[in-house]
Amino acid sequence: MITKIIREELIQRAKKYVEKGEKFVIVAHVSPDGDALGSSLGLYHFLNEYGKDEVNVVVPNEFPEFYKWMPGIKEVVIHDKYPEFAEQLLAEADVIFCLDFNEPKRLEKLGPAVVAAPGRKVMIDHHLNPATDFCRVVISYPEFSSTSEMIFRLICRIGMFDLMNKKAAECIYTGMMTDTGSFTYNSNKPETYIIISELIKKGIDKDEIYRKVNQVSSEGRLRLMGYLLYEKMKVYPEQQTALLTLDRKELARFNYRPGDTEGFVNLPLGMNGVSFSVFLREDEEYIKVSLRSVGDFPCNEFAARYFHGGGHKNASGGEFLGSLEDAIQVFEKGLKEFKA
Ligand code: 5GP
Ligand code: MN
Repeated sequence: MITKIIREELIQRAKKYVEKGEKFVIVAHVSPDGDALGSSLGLYHFLNEYGKDEVNVVVPNEFPEFYKWMPGIKEVVIHDKYPEFAEQLLAEADVIFCLDFNEPKRLEKLGPAVVAAPGRKVMIDHHLNPATDFCRVVISYPEFSSTSEMIFRLICRIGMFDLMNKKAAECIYTGMMTDTGSFTYNSNKPETYIIISELIKKGIDKDEIYRKVNQVSSEGRLRLMGYLLYEKMKVYPEQQTALLTLDRKELARFNYRPGDTEGFVNLPLGMNGVSFSVFLREDEEYIKVSLRSVGDFPCNEFAARYFHGGGHKNASGGEFLGSLEDAIQVFEKGLKEFKA
């Protein structure tokens, strides 16, 4: 039915850890998105259903409000809020699943505790160029559009599809949906829809999940989007590029909450003649950089060269230590170099 893409040896090793493990911790990347949370909670519900009662999900920091309906989300341990508890869970775990990231740097302050933890680590991820030295088992397949889809495939392949309950299915669907822009990019493979069909048979309501994630803007978020597009978007027509920027004062004016700018970076790509879009947002400790493209432009190379980042060809991120003005200059210099 579904092609066996993940190598059998990796499936068997993961299966052994699932069977033998007692204390599990599932870790996902900083500023967890729908796929980080969806894959983690999908695996969490599966392990619970399997009968494992010591399973915890640990993430570095807070996630957006519009994921707070997800089954199991209240159990997620946020390292920023409870550092000692999170680190104790990690130190005591015998199996640690690292989901939706492939280098400790993506955990920011949580990274050292994960690297130092003695438990067996299994990476399940779909980003390019995995660091292979911090996990014992590396299941890295950039051809998948989400880590959540990989979790679905893993559960099937270890022969425990029956143990994927509705809660797990809802979380897995959420990750598949959010990492493909609600199935508008990286989403043209027939098997994706076979999987969705199976998830619907598990009882999910895909239309409701779409609404819960995508149609819950606060007034501030909608007005911030309007302001950003009207006042702040800079277009570089010759480079088919658009730049969006927001500083902290502007964010505060619109009562910014984590997650409020989710998806903004995609908006300029809806404009004729724009195939590369960059969003610079002034956060507390750095300038957060998001990059998106349509077509061949390699956002990940741009992010790696100028913003200590990476990601996928069409969707990448990074950060800049310095002022917003300096970040804009670096971006413009990069644009000249890349699009000369
Ligand atoms: P976003 O713009 O939504 O934060 O990130 C888009 C994509 O780039 C995601 O796949 C994410 O994993 C990746 N990404 C975001 N920030 C970073 C970063 O600082 N380093 C790397 N290597 N990838 C990132
Ligand atoms: Mn992902």
